[in-house]
Amino acid sequence: MNIHEYQAAELFAKYGLPVNPGRVAETPEEAAEAARSIGGTVVLKAQVHIGGRGKAGGVKLAKSPEEAAEKARQILGLDIKGHIVHKVLVAPGADIAKEYYLGVILDREARGITLMGSAEGGVDIEEVAETNPEAIIRVTADRLLGLEDYQARELAFKMGIEPANVNGFVGIVKGLYNAFVGEDASLAEINPLIRTGEGKWAAIDSKMVLDDSALYRHPASEALRDPNEENATETAAKAAGLAFVKLEGDIGCMVNGAGLSMATMDAIKFAGGAPANFLDVGGGATAKQVVQGLQLILADPNVKAILFNIFGGIARCDVIAQGIVDGLTQIEVKVPLVVRLLGTNQEEGRRILAESGFDLITAITMSEAAQKVVAATQGK
Ligand code: GDP
Ligand code: MN
Repeated sequence: MNIHEYQAAELFAKYGLPVNPGRVAETPEEAAEAARSIGGTVVLKAQVHIGGRGKAGGVKLAKSPEEAAEKARQILGLDIKGHIVHKVLVAPGADIAKEYYLGVILDREARGITLMGSAEGGVDIEEVAETNPEAIIRVTADRLLGLEDYQARELAFKMGIEPANVNGFVGIVKGLYNAFVGEDASLAEINPLIRTGEGKWAAIDSKMVLDDSALYRHPASEALRDPNEENATETAAKAAGLAFVKLEGDIGCMVNGAGLSMATMDAIKFAGGAPANFLDVGGGATAKQVVQGLQLILADPNVKAILFNIFGGIARCDVIAQGIVDGLTQIEVKVPLVVRLLGTNQEEGRRILAESGFDLITAITMSEAAQKVVAATQGK
């Protein structure tokens, strides 16, 4: 689950990180009021679940409450890569002497929790990662002992941090690691972590992604969810009781059972295609579920063909076939449909499909179904 910068900063503060405390405003007036109570120069920052806000005009400085209201007016309502700004964070303006990058990730390749740091932090870190990857130092925490002090120091030295500042930096690295582990995050990031003109460390942009599967251990974190930022399709799926995950390909999948869904996606990949989603309609597949599933799949403009892969175990193929036919009667589908129906009462199920009058491509084996749907996306 993604959370906002101001929420990540509140969590980081619990772990002793030197975040820039601020106030959240939803109107220009509230922003002016926040600026007045903070005093001096403030920074106004769009609160959206996407990076690169600075470059998109979502981060601005203001020297007075009036100017804060004016800047808030410019930022609120802004569309940053498809994310509309509903809230701005108003925080004391930082005096930046140097910007660093510091991040903690779940590193599948290294099979551990990896810390990443760079002396080239700030808004161009993605470009640094592409063009100059050596400038990003990586250290994987000990898998049994956790992050050891010497590992944090190693990161500091390789990042070229002055010896006098290393102790302070090590404290921040440990704090960020502890926040990552303590909150069950999949990402914790400070970019930029700065040295101020006064020679202090400050975390002026906090980011954290929480592991959905661990949310049950943090009931308070559920309150951090922002419905404005959730994927509309996945929210609708959750409400309909369907397990749906959007993917990047062009083949819509409707399958009963999570294991069969995973295998179906593998079969599509093996046949040279790419799934547009994971969708497990569960054991039943009633007409209502078929309609809801089709609506979720067809909400994605990338979808060029749909594969139904249905196994009738406890559920009977004739019932499911009737669900598909009823579903197709209620919703217009313009892309090719491939149906594989196998298991209990399969003959009866296939007869219902054949007599329905819908233009369906049928298949018996899984690989045949995958090949046919991939061919259908290529207009064959
Ligand atoms: P991002 O673009 O979404 O990562 O947003 P950031 O919060 O990282 O802000 C982008 C950039 O704006 C930072 O890298 C800083 O250079 C600058 N910035 C952010 N806050 C302040 C501030 O308080 N004072 C100054 N002078 N610059 C800031
Ligand atoms: Mn940033």
